[in-house]
Amino acid sequence: MSTLEIHQFPCLDDNYGYLIHDTASGLTATIDTPEVDAINAALKEKNWSLDFIFNTHHHHDHAGGNLELKAQTQCEIIGPAADIDRIPGIDRAVGEGDTVMLGNWVFQVHDTPGHTRGHIVFHCAEAAVGFVGDTLFALGCGRLFEGTPEQMWHSLQKLLSWPDQTLIYCAHEYTEANARFALSVEPENADLVARVDEIRIARAQDIPTVPTSMALEKRTNPFLRPHSSNLQETVNLVGQSDVEVFARTRELKDNF
Ligand code: ZN
Ligand code: FE
Repeated sequence: MSTLEIHQFPCLDDNYGYLIHDTASGLTATIDTPEVDAINAALKEKNWSLDFIFNTHHHHDHAGGNLELKAQTQCEIIGPAADIDRIPGIDRAVGEGDTVMLGNWVFQVHDTPGHTRGHIVFHCAEAAVGFVGDTLFALGCGRLFEGTPEQMWHSLQKLLSWPDQTLIYCAHEYTEANARFALSVEPENADLVARVDEIRIARAQDIPTVPTSMALEKRTNPFLRPHSSNLQETVNLVGQSDVEVFARTRELKDNF
């Protein structure tokens, strides 16, 4: 029986690196390339060799180590077709509807423009995991550097269609700051209040709050909850459309 092993480790100031490894074939991929030294140390610790880079988007803390790792390992780089000109070393360009294999594990690729125009995410239904880069965070979502609220809301719908038990591996530990904002816009959400207590305790002990799950995010992440009457009241958009409430929430977070 094969297992999809996921090895998580801190990179840079607040990024997470992920190595994913198929025990049957021995193949290994890194999700993005935030920090070459940290990725090499993780490979050495696990005694794995790098076969693939799966890139989510072009930002330096996600693709900055591509060329160095490729030169060292001859790995194949798989990244968003929409950003082939901005991501160094892409060998295979993918987008919505494409699949990427690691051994027998199938990863469905989705285009999730919003944070950047070429952002993609990788979803493995069989393993119930999603690698979402800077699209969705625990209690947050990516800043809209290159996309509109409409685009980002549409992107988040794709993640919302994943099963509740799906584990969400996002690229940053932003949870504590996100929690302060979430509480400010949905103070009456009892699930959120309870979660924020747990987050503070975890972070005080330097314990990661990632991965999270789709179920938990649906109950507590304001960017997935434009239907919440408490949120609508707080942002002064009672009865307005999901995308309007989402857009206002994102704007408030930018200025929080
Ligand atoms: Zn980014
Ligand atoms: Fe990032």
